[in-house]
Amino acid sequence: MTKTAPDYKDIVDHLYDGVYFVDRDRVITYWNKGAERITGYRAEDVVGRSCRDNLLNHVTAAGEMLCTGDCPLVGCMADGEVREADVFLHHAEGHRLPVLVRCAALRDDDGEIVGAVESFSGDTGLIGTRLELRQLRRSVETDALTEVANRAQLERRLRALVAEFAGLPPQAAVMMLDVDHFKGVNDTYGHEAGDRVLRMVATTLRRSVRATDVAGRWGGEEFLVLLRDVRTAEDATRIGEKVRTLIANSRLDTPGGSISVTASIGAVLLLSDDTPETVVRRADAAMYRSKHEGRDRVTFA
Ligand code: GH3
Ligand code: MG
Ligand code: MG
Repeated sequence: MTKTAPDYKDIVDHLYDGVYFVDRDRVITYWNKGAERITGYRAEDVVGRSCRDNLLNHVTAAGEMLCTGDCPLVGCMADGEVREADVFLHHAEGHRLPVLVRCAALRDDDGEIVGAVESFSGDTGLIGTRLELRQLRRSVETDALTEVANRAQLERRLRALVAEFAGLPPQAAVMMLDVDHFKGVNDTYGHEAGDRVLRMVATTLRRSVRATDVAGRWGGEEFLVLLRDVRTAEDATRIGEKVRTLIANSRLDTPGGSISVTASIGAVLLLSDDTPETVVRRADAAMYRSKHEGRDRVTFA
């Protein structure tokens, strides 16, 4: 143990996380710079002392004292399993601070457990910020009503798709979908029921294409779908027909009666010289042909 620490000291010292080692008696044998920064205790304050003495005094969010109770260091030295816990550390200045701790057993060359290492990241502000960023990103990319990709995200993904396949033979398709006589749904059942119908259509759409495809709301009651690995008119039409059938067979039960809608679909292959504008224009034109020819149908152009 004491031999191991100096070997890795330089590396471990530069970790952002706090890291310390204990021997089998829970005497602290090593304490890195991150641990100093996070806890306010310096290596000379703690090395050689037993963490059993409640020096760090880990407390769970529920208020349980870990050092005298269910100490994760003791646990992982007993069974060799890695443990994680959300705890509150005791800072040298007296206050409590939240950390995520991770403990693992340390073994000698014979595989014998000789101690344990605990690492902890104190910057839960950073953890929180990352989480918030993820949520923010999701909300920026997602249509609030239907929870599919929004227009901005669709345009981004379409640009990427066009760039990826520029100059190549067709291997992706674009589908424009417009709900038929949707104004009538609002007029008959109310705008709120109309919203629920849009959610139903969007969910059916999202569930009927593959995870690698992108289904999103283009606007109002119009949806755009980007499909990968589609090379022929037959494939595009088959997928369009599947979507059309699934939507026509979805049904929303409301107090005012059950509501079903149909959709008119236009499907096109992404051509080697397409721009985002040209491919959407062709898909839109194909969708309008479906409208003119009686709705609830798929037109491939
Ligand atoms: P068509 O078959 O020709 O497409 O007929 P339509 O009634 O679907 O077409 P139109 O474009 O005349 O009407 C679209 C309607 O969609 C009008 C608009 O109020 C409604 N709409 C657009 N966005 C929303 C929404 O977010 N919620 C609800 N409830 N209605 C919406
Ligand atoms: Mg429309
Ligand atoms: Mg419509």
